[in-house]
Amino acid sequence: MDSKKEPQERRKKRIAVIPGDGIGQEVIPQAVKVIQASGADVELTDFDWGADRYLRDQLTVPPDGFAMLGRDFDAILVGAFGDPRVKTNIHAKEILLGMRFKMDLYANVRPVRLLDAALCPLKGVEPKDVDFVVLRENTEGVYTDAGGVFKQGTPDEIATQEDINTRKGVERIIRYAFQYCERHTKLDGSPRNKVLMCDKSNAMTHAGGLWQRVFKEVSGEYPQIIAQHMYVDALCMQMVRDPRQFDVIVTNNMFGDIITDLAAGLQGGLGMAASGNIHPGKTSMFEPVHGSAPPIAGKNMANPFGSILTAAMMLAHLGMAKEAQKIEAAVLGAVRQKKTTQDIGGKLETTEAGEWVANQVSHP
Ligand code: ATP
Repeated sequence: MDSKKEPQERRKKRIAVIPGDGIGQEVIPQAVKVIQASGADVELTDFDWGADRYLRDQLTVPPDGFAMLGRDFDAILVGAFGDPRVKTNIHAKEILLGMRFKMDLYANVRPVRLLDAALCPLKGVEPKDVDFVVLRENTEGVYTDAGGVFKQGTPDEIATQEDINTRKGVERIIRYAFQYCERHTKLDGSPRNKVLMCDKSNAMTHAGGLWQRVFKEVSGEYPQIIAQHMYVDALCMQMVRDPRQFDVIVTNNMFGDIITDLAAGLQGGLGMAASGNIHPGKTSMFEPVHGSAPPIAGKNMANPFGSILTAAMMLAHLGMAKEAQKIEAAVLGAVRQKKTTQDIGGKLETTEAGEWVANQVSHP
């Protein structure tokens, strides 16, 4: 059959792979190895966007780069961007924020799951106690770079940073949270049934007021789901005191950034956390939560599991649930048997940990 006429669902999925900088170049090849071991029917294409390319020819993203990604690929697997040689971090901004903003990937989905009690710094917490997801608004807030500096370098200097919240942007991420809650179960198979909106509406009254009104309105359309609210400061304390209470958390761009680092601490650190940047129906991008981690880059010691779990999340998103489950089970096995890098208590190098998981995936 002419492949162009095949239904979208049956066509081989095309994935753009952009390892980027620092440990991104070490962990993404491990994720790729594991995807290949899983037998997923995908076609992978590498892109060298990142600091090296920028320093060589000043290119961050080719002129039609984002349009090409949206047109020619089903998903994008990204490592990390950031390099001490590029002080302005311009390439990271243009590539990563460019993708999120220009491809309108408005839902940043960050699952927080504890695979093994030994990874959690909290006493008496079991894997079943940490199984929630943070949905971070990904295209607005303080990340739009609105604001400015006046009288710079003088004693009268003024700096402003605007927090942009649109009705459309707030409504679609809140609605996404309720839909996510309806469509996803917990790891033990039980249904998700709570959406908690996190803000700071007692201090940031204008933006918070909009979030409050929209949350009330949208939650009314989902009477079967429990709608809750918490101020971000209280949420930070509760996350450490009792993570069991959380199910689906929805919040703005900056609070989402901050609370997911805290949440990563509950699951074994930044090396274990996965994420997706999603616009339903469009080409979406998947990346580990960690950055390029310059202090450990090039040492073959970065934990590849965040990237490997990110790859599993991407395959599940593309309809390959079986392959995704195989990968998750293999990572769980690695953690239980301490076939891991040092950051989570093992003795393996990045490549060895990736190899171990790939072997498990191909010979479970
Ligand atoms: P960014 O600004 O891109 O978030 P960052 O420097 O604030 O970057 P990361 O690069 O994510 O943060 O990492 C901070 C530290 O966490 C690293 O220096 C490293 O010690 C640890 N870390 C992050 N990712 C990993 C990983 N995959 N494996 C082991 N340690 C990691």
